[in-house]
Amino acid sequence: MQLTLWTYEGPPHIGAMRVATGMKGLHFVLHAPQGDTYADLLFTMIERRAERPPVTYTTFQARDLGTDTAEVFKDAARAAYERHHPRAIIVGASCTAELIQDDPGGLAKTLGLPCPVIPLELSAYSRKENWGAAETLYRLARGLAGERRERPARARPLANLLGPTALGFRHRDDIIEITKLLNALGVDVNVTAPMGATPDDLTRLGDADFNVVLYPEVALPAAQYLEKAHGQPYTKTVPIGIGATRDFIAEVRKIANLPETAELPTSNLPWWSRSVDSTYLTGKRVFIFGDGTHVLAAERIAREEIGFDVVGLGTYSREFAREVRERAKLHNIEALITDDYLDVEKAIADAHPELVLGTQMERHISKRLRLPCAVISAPTHVQDFPARYAPQMGFEGANVIFDSWVHPLMMGLEEHLLGMFREDSEFHEHASHLGVSSAPAPAPIPTAAEQPVAAAPTAAAASSPVEPQWTDEATKELKKIPFFVRGKARGNTEKYARERGLTTISVGTLYDAKAHYGR
Ligand code: SF4
Repeated sequence: MQLTLWTYEGPPHIGAMRVATGMKGLHFVLHAPQGDTYADLLFTMIERRAERPPVTYTTFQARDLGTDTAEVFKDAARAAYERHHPRAIIVGASCTAELIQDDPGGLAKTLGLPCPVIPLELSAYSRKENWGAAETLYRLARGLAGERRERPARARPLANLLGPTALGFRHRDDIIEITKLLNALGVDVNVTAPMGATPDDLTRLGDADFNVVLYPEVALPAAQYLEKAHGQPYTKTVPIGIGATRDFIAEVRKIANLPETAELPTSNLPWWSRSVDSTYLTGKRVFIFGDGTHVLAAERIAREEIGFDVVGLGTYSREFAREVRERAKLHNIEALITDDYLDVEKAIADAHPELVLGTQMERHISKRLRLPCAVISAPTHVQDFPARYAPQMGFEGANVIFDSWVHPLMMGLEEHLLGMFREDSEFHEHASHLGVSSAPAPAPIPTAAEQPVAAAPTAAAASSPVEPQWTDEATKELKKIPFFVRGKARGNTEKYARERGLTTISVGTLYDAKAHYGR
């Protein structure tokens, strides 16, 4: 058992639903208890799809457990075919149905439905949503792509785009951006899957010369299968950020044997981040957390393209742990590999970042810690399925990223004025356009005079180190430090004092700590 309040990923059948909902003409028959239809809302409300997902739930109830739940499944599968006439069906079990072991694959086979039926083993107790999506795409590719065939030499090479699904973070616009980029390079797109593809389209996967893996979490097993079974190489660089997009272009040119003559679109990011107005971004302390793909991309952009100082890096995608750990070493930090948001919250609080790049969970955490935050990865909420064009990939994606990361930060002039006029009523940290802050004030620092006097030391108190106390003067001096770095200064000074066994923090201690950490 694991006590869980928030979860970064859903169960694996949600991943299978993301594949089925992204496709057309594919139906998913899901053996699941009454109530699991909640998952429809992810698609109709968060992604704001106009249609219900193509999923038939068996919705068995407690009283069905006394009868034959296998019959309930068979009836549902038959009815789903008759009603929707899909070109192919996937069948699987949700967590509860996995326990009653009805074997949806075997049962569907006995029905002899007149379309391909692909069984999914979803391992709900050991795997999660992205794995479920990857497994489903892999099974579909295996089941439908057919035998390896000869591919004719073409003037313009053909590629499949693999990985985009329903409910994917900016997948809709990444497809458009990368299709445009490939077309400009001289490559045509054969099939984009699963998003927008039909089961018939998947039978044409083998016609492409190579595969573009847009989201490795979802597409890697399918791409590896297609490489083995159809001899199609696949791209390893995810084109998020300027450097990564350039590397991706070089990789595509190499795989497809293309000349370097095509005229390509450009991005504003390199000039925007070089322009003098961005100087104040240099060295900003940033904490990055999310899925493996987006975290690795964000780390590179932060390091190479904007000049941030990465003070925290982590992912909930365990399959990417090794790569994320390697990148963390570049910043002399330890990567955080966890799916427990409490660990993430603690790590953010300890790292004192000036900006958090994360998921919807980190948005909540940042609000609580009063830190600026931008969303870079799923899970996301409805506002990250925007009406406007907002890719993350390619050159336009880099423009979107630059704007959305810089937006939550205070502008350079504002920051400067806050430092200079901190006593001014218009510039102190709690000021807002209403004159009063809507955010709760941070807890005051207890001064030596305000510290409660313990009556008698207990055994526990005697064994724990004494917390250093701030003098009034030191508290006043601390308040002169701009508030967005004050938490860091306060934490460092207390650590400095604790390490030296100091019981009081004076103005001198504050400056000694500053000199110590500034070295
Ligand atoms: S079957 Fe799984 S997803 Fe459905 S309610 Fe139970 S735990 Fe949740």
